[in-house]
Amino acid sequence: MTVTAQILYMASATAFVLGVRLMGSPATARRGNRLLAIGMIVALGTTVMVIPSFSHVIAVLGVVALGTIAGVWSALRVRMTAMPQMVALFNGLGGGAAALVAAGGWPATSGSAGWLALLTMILGSLSFGGSAVALIKLQEWMRGVFWGMALRVVGILAILAAVALAVFLGAVGTAHLSAAILLMVMSALSGALLTLPIGGADMPVVISLLNALTGLSAAATGFVLGNQLLIIAGTLVGASGTILTQQMSRAMHRSLGTVIWGNKIHAQGGEASEGSVQPITADDVAMLLRYAKKVVVVPGYGLAVARAQLEVKQVTDLLQEFGVEVLFGIHPVAGRMPGHMNVLLAEANVSYDQLWEMERINPRFPKTDVVLVIGANDVTNPAARTQAGSPLYGMPILNVDQASTVVVLKRSMGKGFAGVDNPLYFDVKTRMLFGDAKHSLSALVRELEGIA
Ligand code: NDP
Repeated sequence: MTVTAQILYMASATAFVLGVRLMGSPATARRGNRLLAIGMIVALGTTVMVIPSFSHVIAVLGVVALGTIAGVWSALRVRMTAMPQMVALFNGLGGGAAALVAAGGWPATSGSAGWLALLTMILGSLSFGGSAVALIKLQEWMRGVFWGMALRVVGILAILAAVALAVFLGAVGTAHLSAAILLMVMSALSGALLTLPIGGADMPVVISLLNALTGLSAAATGFVLGNQLLIIAGTLVGASGTILTQQMSRAMHRSLGTVIWGNKIHAQGGEASEGSVQPITADDVAMLLRYAKKVVVVPGYGLAVARAQLEVKQVTDLLQEFGVEVLFGIHPVAGRMPGHMNVLLAEANVSYDQLWEMERINPRFPKTDVVLVIGANDVTNPAARTQAGSPLYGMPILNVDQASTVVVLKRSMGKGFAGVDNPLYFDVKTRMLFGDAKHSLSALVRELEGIA
């Protein structure tokens, strides 16, 4: 590789590191994203530059063009609510690609590079199989999985068999296409079987774990191909995915082993809630809010579905003009991807100072007059504290039921991602404002403007 190419690779690696650093805060995230894109363009250009044969250059450019068109097309078309599925899809493709590249490079390797090629085939395929199932579950093409424990046992046996096969192949030292295919199929099957029984609150942890696996497999491919940039980029993804997995597990008070193995009765539906719900109209909610001193807004997945972030901002602006203190309570797994609510609210220019994380906002609820729960369900479900049979049991929630009054905005008595009833809706202090969140919030804006 020429000195110029090495310098350019180093420049893109630096852009990756700085870009990830800037992504750490919502205020600098856009700049970070741009820097990462520039780093990727430089990396791709340099890779094309160092390809020795012209025919390969044409092939690589063709593939890059196809990938770019597919990527831009899906990024422009995807709705905010479907972003996690897109992340799962791209993550799976990354893992699968790393495995295929390693399989292609395996015959030319020797010594430790051969072992790394085998490791990449396992990790990349594991991530591919797991991400494919995560995509299906996030898209809600499949709900409720039976034989969870049997699937887990077969999944573990499949990965153990894959590792044993890899050790045998590494020891023999000869590369075979059929052996590579068998290894990848067994690993992908294991990823799929181990992800199948996981659901509800554990899904975000799994997604970031799969992301970490893809990063590690890309880094290992870098060693196989002797490409430093791939090593750096893969390690960055692997390390940040691992840290995110740890942080999310900690936030959910779950160990990674518990997430994968599942230590609870995954009942279909939990205990049924009893009692009657109390509907409320938008004008009554407006009066409640207008004369409250402290209001907390709890956004959830339904806010993203309704695309009602601008209307929320209008409501909170009006309340602040009336002198009401308004904060947002953000649960770490609200929505369908890490940081989902922060991204939505940033789009509406909600001030970052108003966004309070779960640990910080929970002690405030007993002193809060009204909590406005907008399209959030699982993250407010008190069954997580009280019903040992519930799939949510043990998950820390936003304790909105401790506030004086709770107003829930949703369309029906429909369930959340975990598919369980929410006793909050039957609480005597809860009022239900039924309807699409965007319509309900627009009605609230009109009512509040009327009061002014
Ligand atoms: P939930 O999925 O629990 O609930 C969303 C609620 O929004 C539903 O009950 C639905 O009720 C309501 N809703 C849907 N559309 C609208 C609309 N247009 N207007 C008003 N309401 C609407 O969301 P939460 O955010 O509370 O919890 C997230 C769940 O997703 C957790 O279980 C989490 O573990 C899981 N998850 C999170 C991931 C992450 O990384 N954050 C990734 C994968 C899963 P109705 O139909 O009656 O309107």
